[in-house]
Amino acid sequence: MKKGKVYITGAGPGDEGLITVKGMESVKIADVIVYDRLAGGNLLKYAKEDCEFIYVGKQSSNHTKTQDEINEIIFQKAAEGRIVTRLKGGDPYVFGRGGEEGEYLRDRNIEFEVIPGITSAIGGLAYGGIPITHRDYASGFHVITGHLKEEDREHDWETLAKLQGTLVFLMGMAQLENITSNLKNNGMDSKTPVALINWATTCKQKTVTGTLETICDVARENKISSPVLIVVGKVVELKEKLNFFENRPLSGKRIMVTRARAQTSTLSKKIQDLGGEVIEFPMIKIKELDTDKKTKESIVNIESYDWMIFTSQNSVNIFFKKLFEEGYDLRKIGNVKIAAIGNATADELKKMHIKADLIPKNFVAESLFEELKVILKPSDRVLLPRGLSSREVLFESLYSICIVDEVKIYETIRDNEINNIKIQDLLSDDQIDCITFTSSSTVKNLAHILGENMDLLKKSKLYSIGPITSETLNEYGSFSYCQASSYDVDGLIEAICTDGGL
Ligand code: SAH
Repeated sequence: MKKGKVYITGAGPGDEGLITVKGMESVKIADVIVYDRLAGGNLLKYAKEDCEFIYVGKQSSNHTKTQDEINEIIFQKAAEGRIVTRLKGGDPYVFGRGGEEGEYLRDRNIEFEVIPGITSAIGGLAYGGIPITHRDYASGFHVITGHLKEEDREHDWETLAKLQGTLVFLMGMAQLENITSNLKNNGMDSKTPVALINWATTCKQKTVTGTLETICDVARENKISSPVLIVVGKVVELKEKLNFFENRPLSGKRIMVTRARAQTSTLSKKIQDLGGEVIEFPMIKIKELDTDKKTKESIVNIESYDWMIFTSQNSVNIFFKKLFEEGYDLRKIGNVKIAAIGNATADELKKMHIKADLIPKNFVAESLFEELKVILKPSDRVLLPRGLSSREVLFESLYSICIVDEVKIYETIRDNEINNIKIQDLLSDDQIDCITFTSSSTVKNLAHILGENMDLLKKSKLYSIGPITSETLNEYGSFSYCQASSYDVDGLIEAICTDGGL
């Protein structure tokens, strides 16, 4: 039997970009991913389509699975011959019990590898604007647990209170009172600066500061709860100057991106780069259709066409995949001219080293037709590879002026990955600040799922990528929404950033 292997991988403190290259590799090749509350939920989208996900998240007082159970799950899956990636928040060996998992596997002869991660104790501080050391403030640091294995054991507070370096307490929120009073009572200056960094490196990050004297009140006033990094020391004073993360245009905003999973990345990434939190709702999924006779013939005879028109990134990807599968390469398309409906589609072509000959001023089918109308002759042959449920308007209008072959190469299907209840709960609890719609089908699919609860959308701000999508929204009710001025992802982002009412 194939031998299994376990990667004990540090996912970094939260921001998905903070996993290492090697860590990401272990996510991509895993057959099974065993993950925690603080680790990597947002990394699962990089896993293989058929990867099994096992959540073993722990909340400090409410353990979903005991460590023994977790050890056993990892061992069993690897013993079945599978590649198991054990994703852990931060670094696996910094209060992550990665060592115990490694021991368990070694005792049972299972091969494992540890992939270190950026610990929240250092990376989380950096995102909070606090350098863990600084020549003028702290020449060393100590990372300390707020939660000892045996409840009645205590730290040597006398020693801790005398330390000169930065002190970082992890798992300490429930003990904040205890920590601050012990440090004070053992001689640390009560004016020593303290910061609490909540949900560091994520869109929910919030940093508050005070002193050993005041920080408990500050925490209460700001309703700070776990996970928190408690930082004690003069480096906290640098926060005002070095805080780069919490003042971005979309900081603290939760934005639901409704797109096909394969396409979410650009929009989601841009939102995240601006500080927003993305809830991807993959209501539509793209499924390639088998190559039918008509498609095959159009590929074989492609040189007989004058134009090829691509109306989505999917049509580009899937059409060329099929062309390559038929044994051809790019030379096959020869002199056929190419039109792309918008920049995203043109960019997809560019990745294939193809420059679109025509991109209409407005990224909609009507505009594309207007511009083609003056170029096309009645004898011209046009190939239109696209999705099963694409709008008919382009085909019909082209059909009236030239010869057009439409081939259906993919299908858009509903993805029920997030169940109805969850999305309705999210919406009714005011958990979503805005929702983006990037095509009519995203509107229709959401409407299908929400059914008579469509009015829940009124609780969030809605953003539409362009007039066709807006029109579809209008068909479902009188929603107020904001429409992008350029009908693409950047236009949508701009609309979200500039909308004062957000
Ligand atoms: N192995 C992890 C730490 C695990 S212990 C690491 O290297 O970061 C869990 C504790 O880490 C939490 O209670 C909290 O104190 C801290 N922590 C981890 N991620 C955090 C985050 N994103 N924001 C704030 N605290 C975090």
